[in-house]
Amino acid sequence: MTLKGKTAIITGSTSGIGLGIARALAAAGANVVLNSFTDSDSDHTLAESLASEHGVTARYIRADMSKGEDCRALIEKAGRCDILVNNAGIQYVSPIEDFPVEKWNAILAINLSSSFHTIAAAVPGMREAGWGRIVNVASAHGLRASPFKSAYIAAKHGLVGLTKTVALETARDKITCNAICPGYVLTPLVEAQIPDQMKAHNMDRDTVIREVMLDRQPSKEFATVEEIGGTAAFLCSDAAAQITGTTISVDGGWTAM
Ligand code: NAD
Repeated sequence: MTLKGKTAIITGSTSGIGLGIARALAAAGANVVLNSFTDSDSDHTLAESLASEHGVTARYIRADMSKGEDCRALIEKAGRCDILVNNAGIQYVSPIEDFPVEKWNAILAINLSSSFHTIAAAVPGMREAGWGRIVNVASAHGLRASPFKSAYIAAKHGLVGLTKTVALETARDKITCNAICPGYVLTPLVEAQIPDQMKAHNMDRDTVIREVMLDRQPSKEFATVEEIGGTAAFLCSDAAAQITGTTISVDGGWTAM
């Protein structure tokens, strides 16, 4: 498979799943645009190392995915967008009656509305080019609920709905739009939660992972960023040309239950 000559923009791609997807697309030959809201030296160094590792062009562009105008400007600054991966996301956990309004607004903005803005900005160029791939990183929580994650689950279910709608609107344009629904993936975000969970449950690390985090993941293993990257690369390949408007679960069996 080759994505040589294609330009991929991956939002929230300086760590975790976004970086795993950027690596997989670069390994398949795509030029990549990394994004976060930090604009630190290490963000630019990361892009340089990706470029030299895979012999592609890699750039970092700062944009805050909580702001609609930044989302649209990211697509414009990139100059070209054959592949759009909407990955940036945050989490907050609280009972609904205590859920802070600003957290609700931030999660809806970053985890859902950002994709509306980037897709709206990218689709005209994809139509003109006669080819496009949109991959939205949703979650098992785009298909199933858990308590205390109201904003995240509402946003991820919304993202799955947006995915289906965009697929219908672009079905005749050789553009596909799909969502990947990961279960638990051991990213820095998830790793950071382990010490708190150990304290809260009075358990050791392995027990927290097995009985708390992977409780609903029948494989009892984390999915990896490489597996999510491979799934994204497949969705961008010619073999996936007729796969559109759907979700692909990478969750060790979670949503089979
Ligand atoms: P992460 O914290 O490692 O990565 C999140 C990325 O988003 C970072 O690069 C961060 O800089 C970026 N980001 C956050 N706010 C931003 C903003 N306002 N503007 C621009 N960039 C911003 O987390 P991750 O676990 O890799 O999560 C990536 C995506 O995968 C998220 O959408 C998350 O909901 C989803 N997901 C993660 C898991 C998991 O278990 N880790 C499971 C299912 C879905």
